[in-house]
Amino acid sequence: MRALLIYPIFPKSFWSFEKALELVNRKALLPPLGLITVAAILPQTWEFRMVDRNVGEIIEADWDWAEIVILSAMIVQKEDFLAQIQAAKQRGKRVAVGGPYPTALPGEAEASGADFLILDEGEITLPMFVAAVEQGETSGIFRANGERPSVELTPIPRFDLLDKTAYDLMALQFSRGCPFQCEFCDIIVLYGRKPRTKTPEQLIAELDRLLELGFDQGVFLVDDNFIGNKRNVKLLLPAIKAWSQRHNYPFRFLTEASIDLAQDPELMDMMVEANFHAVFLGIETPDEASLTLTRKFQNTRDSLSESVNSITRKGLRVMAGFIVGFDGEKSGAGDRIVQFVEKTAIPTAMFSMLQALPDTALWHRLQKEGRLLEQTTANINQTTLMNFIPTRPMEEIAREYVDGFWQLYDSHQFLDRIYRYYLMLGTESPIRDAKKSAGSVGQVLSWTTVRALSILVWRQGIKRSTRLKFWIYLFRIMGQNPKFWVDYLKICGHFEHFSEYRQLVRDNIETQLAEFLEQQSRLQSASIGITEVKANEVKANDVTVKEVTVSESAA
Ligand code: SF4
Repeated sequence: MRALLIYPIFPKSFWSFEKALELVNRKALLPPLGLITVAAILPQTWEFRMVDRNVGEIIEADWDWAEIVILSAMIVQKEDFLAQIQAAKQRGKRVAVGGPYPTALPGEAEASGADFLILDEGEITLPMFVAAVEQGETSGIFRANGERPSVELTPIPRFDLLDKTAYDLMALQFSRGCPFQCEFCDIIVLYGRKPRTKTPEQLIAELDRLLELGFDQGVFLVDDNFIGNKRNVKLLLPAIKAWSQRHNYPFRFLTEASIDLAQDPELMDMMVEANFHAVFLGIETPDEASLTLTRKFQNTRDSLSESVNSITRKGLRVMAGFIVGFDGEKSGAGDRIVQFVEKTAIPTAMFSMLQALPDTALWHRLQKEGRLLEQTTANINQTTLMNFIPTRPMEEIAREYVDGFWQLYDSHQFLDRIYRYYLMLGTESPIRDAKKSAGSVGQVLSWTTVRALSILVWRQGIKRSTRLKFWIYLFRIMGQNPKFWVDYLKICGHFEHFSEYRQLVRDNIETQLAEFLEQQSRLQSASIGITEVKANEVKANDVTVKEVTVSESAA
């Protein structure tokens, strides 16, 4: 069987980093790990071609070659996902689809024209699909019916199918699932609350394979929560450390984790020793009432700012996600987030408005309350308005969101913040030595780096009004904390993306807000519309939640 694997296009997002990737001559941040894992699970007697549409085009010869087309997508990739299914069907191809989007919304996936729906986790449903194809079936829907596979049997992803020069980072996965219960989270719906991990030997074999194939990027452990199973992570980290030492630290690692990482100094030390340098934390908001309401209890146990500072002081750069628009949230939530980011000197803070993802606890609650908006799943991303009726005016939340993003990525404010961050690290920070942090002199002075550096110096060191700060901070860091000057320049490179992206956020949100307000006023003049959203506190499942009443008036 000849299978063409297609990964649809992502819209521009906080994570797409276009301008920063241009600097280092890469096309996308991360490869489609799910799809190359699918290729590893399918029979190895099949032939595969992979086209990640974020880094390359499908040519007519690919369509002609394929006997079956397989797509995997997240909800944000919906538009191109549907377009590629159409393109395949026009050419008379059988199409199989899977991944988070078809799994969350199988009705939409079925309506897309796909022949096979391979839902839930592929370790269980891909063998069902293969059996059906081998029996000559031409369509089918395969579900795991609540069963969760052990990932100890998951084979090494087919990294060989990737264009190794296209990606800024490589992706590996150690665990699936998360023990927490955040109301808005789709991870626990898709992968459950009992984290399942690979063995250290499996992960080391994956690292060996990357090395063997000549990958030289950093490695993102894309686990939903890397420390969801702390016991197993503590077995893994010494193995990564020993492997890294043996191979002269070929990879730097970053990952995603819950903030209770700060309560475990031993774990943080182990991560730093294994050459982890950054960690993404879902902080969401400094407003404790909102955290409790959204069941993010793990973020309410300790002072959030103390936790961030502890992680930073250990030598792990914190990247963090923040959200506005929780039920019952008081005015000024956006400002409070900006103040928190400034106080903790988090260099890279992702900011978004709350969205209800399909099948999450939030989704079901809002559905019950009649608050989901029409076309709810049409296009959910960081440049779209909320997909439900919030408890305070949409306009107020949207303006706080745009203003917050604008402030966070103001060029002066950003440089001041990252400089404060490097001061916080301190000269005694146990973060990697120069060889591990900056790479060898040869790496630092590669042609790509020289080119990136020239563009950066031209834009930030000469053209922009922040030029003086850029140089002062660079020389101060070189003098006070020389291990980090390369890191400083890399973060300055990321700013190229953020400064463009904040404009995109502002333009898109303002356009949609104008349409939304116009629609509201049309509804009001027709005397049919939502007049009031009342939020009363009620106790449910030991959690104080808001009971929302949506009132409509009719002529
Ligand atoms: S900690 Fe993160 S992954 Fe875990 S449930 Fe909450 S949002 Fe989801």
